[in-house]
Amino acid sequence: MTFELYKLPYEENALEPYISQKTLFYHYEKHHATYLKNLNDLIKGTDLEKYTLEEIILATEKYPSQQAIYNNASQVWNHTFYWQSLSPNGGGDIPDSDFKRMVIRDFGSVENLKNEFKKVATSQFGSGYAWLIFDNGKLKLMSSSNAQSPLGKYRILLNIDVWEHAYYLDYQNKRADHIEAILTHLINWNFAIQNIENF
Ligand code: MN
Repeated sequence: MTFELYKLPYEENALEPYISQKTLFYHYEKHHATYLKNLNDLIKGTDLEKYTLEEIILATEKYPSQQAIYNNASQVWNHTFYWQSLSPNGGGDIPDSDFKRMVIRDFGSVENLKNEFKKVATSQFGSGYAWLIFDNGKLKLMSSSNAQSPLGKYRILLNIDVWEHAYYLDYQNKRADHIEAILTHLINWNFAIQNIENF
């Protein structure tokens, strides 16, 4: 199967002024689209063409000889998930839900979750992601390097891309300011609610 580019659920300028149209254009139409093209080129004519994206990621992640396929497949998945972790109507308080009650139980408050999320995202050394996951009945934060993700290990609720390509045009070296803007204005709590309810 040839994978197709995930269609953004909003316009490329919809996240302004926190993420510019220019950043979204390069991030989505260049970075994400290139991972997708690389993946399709790499699996062409192999058994992996019959696999789903998730199956390709899990089948290749432990094998150094398959690293290029893993990296590109995982980056396609991570970006598709990331676009949904953001929303023009995001940020603010978490809508009343079991998820919100779990946040208060496990982090003390929504504000504290945001503070901890910011710490994890800011302190990831080099490229990678910050993740909100659900493990053993508890909400947790973690980070990963490069293309890695917790797929197949934990229920994933949200991610934030902390590769420089996600923010450098708008924030240069100030990753913390970018993360703060996401958590204040864009983070899509409804996506987390949907992910915890429909796993
Ligand atoms: Mn990215």
